Amino acid sequence: MRLLVAVLAALLASLPARAAELPIFDAHVHYSHDAWDMLPPDAAIDILRKAGVRRALVSSSGDDGQQRLYTAAPDLIIPELRPYRRRGEIATWVRDESVIAYLEERLKKYRYVAIGEFHLYSADADLPVPRRLVELARQHRLFLHAHSDADAVERLFKQWPQARILWAHAGFERPERVREMLRKYPNLWCDLAFRTDHASGGKVDPDWRAAFLEFPERFMVGTDTFTPERWLYVPEHAKWSRTWLADLPKNVAERIAWKNGETVFGALLRSPQ
Ligand SMILES: [Zn+2]
Repeated sequence: MRLLVAVLAALLASLPARAAELPIFDAHVHYSHDAWDMLPPDAAIDILRKAGVRRALVSSSGDDGQQRLYTAAPDLIIPELRPYRRRGEIATWVRDESVIAYLEERLKKYRYVAIGEFHLYSADADLPVPRRLVELARQHRLFLHAHSDADAVERLFKQWPQARILWAHAGFERPERVREMLRKYPNLWCDLAFRTDHASGGKVDPDWRAAFLEFPERFMVGTDTFTPERWLYVPEHAKWSRTWLADLPKNVAERIAWKNGETVFGALLRSPQ
């Protein structure tokens, strides 16, 4: 733990005070309970700002975490509500009725733009607890942020055809399959968190390039700080994203880097509820 704090301090000191580069909307940040001690809210906000992250879509296992971040930097943090109270509920929540009471309690108290990120695969999407989650999102007009296979995404749209879904990691699907899904569902967006197959050595993969050019408005980048240590990667992720985005037409790069996130989630947060 002490080592990690020291590494973080060194990292922060090495970053430029103000990033003049392309701003980043990081659409996949977690600030979960085991990160809070290592990285108090001010330090987490410092990392995001110094990495040139203009805004971040943040959810926490233990929702208090991102509420603290949001209070400290409402211009930077866009809150979304994760159905997990602690690490380790990823596989169990779909059959855990108590998740619904937790979501309801938080929704009564705080403002969010989305429910997620949650993990949900195939036919589990039609279990009673996920159905209730979708129902709550519908009542509160929230996005769903789904770490799901294509099958579960289709089931979510079947339950709620007007749903707006941010597909975490673009489902770890191949670009051709992602394009099919984007064609089929106009209310589907993708984050590219925790994948690197779309670019290497500053060059965008040809199949991914075709996807980005066909749907420049539907992709966002994200770090995915699913463990506390991943926070170290936020500046590197921003930098790496700028490198491969520079291989795309400028207007497409800007959209994927930050404009899509800002248009979709920034606008939602500003709109009256
Ligand atoms: Zn995640």
